[in-house]
Amino acid sequence: MVVVSDVFVSVRGRVMLNVEAMNMTESVGNYVKHRRVPVVLPDAKYTTYFVPAISGESIAHGFQEVLAEVGKKNGLKVCKLCEKGIFLKSTNENVFKESFSSDPPKDDFEFEKTVIENCIVEDVGGFLYAPRAGGNVKRTSNFYTGYMIPVRESIEGAVIEPQLHSRYALGTPFVEGGQGQMIYYVELSSAVYTFSFDLDTRYIGRTTFSYEKAGTEVGKRSERINAALEALKKFLIEFAFGAKKTRFLPVMEWDSLVVAVSDDVWTVPSPYTAGYIDNARKKKEKVNFNTKLFVYPEGGSFEEVVVEAIEEAKERAGK
Ligand SMILES: [Zn+2]
Repeated sequence: MVVVSDVFVSVRGRVMLNVEAMNMTESVGNYVKHRRVPVVLPDAKYTTYFVPAISGESIAHGFQEVLAEVGKKNGLKVCKLCEKGIFLKSTNENVFKESFSSDPPKDDFEFEKTVIENCIVEDVGGFLYAPRAGGNVKRTSNFYTGYMIPVRESIEGAVIEPQLHSRYALGTPFVEGGQGQMIYYVELSSAVYTFSFDLDTRYIGRTTFSYEKAGTEVGKRSERINAALEALKKFLIEFAFGAKKTRFLPVMEWDSLVVAVSDDVWTVPSPYTAGYIDNARKKKEKVNFNTKLFVYPEGGSFEEVVVEAIEEAKERAGK
């Protein structure tokens, strides 16, 4: 039998993204807007700036797409909707029936167990079952991520700029009488962004909702954790998230990255501040759960650092 240990992986980084349109909000007519969020600059006056941002939902969507793919490749079950990148995740009876081709179990414990068993995405990424008649069942995500915002030094220099594009085909009859395609604007942004992602394997392949039976193991936990870690590796190396990448593929470069692998919850300090790598080392001196830091660029190429960190995590989790 494989002994499975808990492992906590914390990722923080700074990434330069030029001319990106990775997270757009509404479009007003032919004008597509980049997401903006308020951020406080910790100066004497605590000025608030509206700056370009990429939401945690966008990152989570990308990670779960990779997880669905890796899970299936590794022989784990993925429900009918998640495998297509539709993350409704057991929202109600109809979604459940469509996802799992069966009726939702009445018992809370059985419900969660069935979902975990049959969908690695919902095992790792959680779900919220909220049928009209009541009887909610909730599973909290085992990974954590959030908004990417410009780093401290980049806040005042971050820009959003609308770019004009047109598909007019002059000289063809399609343009006459306003029949040609419209010109359109896409807001682009350039900044050095923060990146944050944590993965806690403690509850992967374990029920959590019904308190009497919480912790019941479902399926082979080592395989599930392995798939989540594999997915994280692929996700980081391929930067596999964000919208509009077919025509607005960002010009990107990782500035720095820290991956911490620990036996218990241990998060890398915020990359908003330039000294976050030093802060991580200082924290490790005070608080340490067999914590090991993998640092880019000093620990080798980006890929080397990520691969080494994930290998360490897999080793600890019990392959
Ligand atoms: Zn699913």
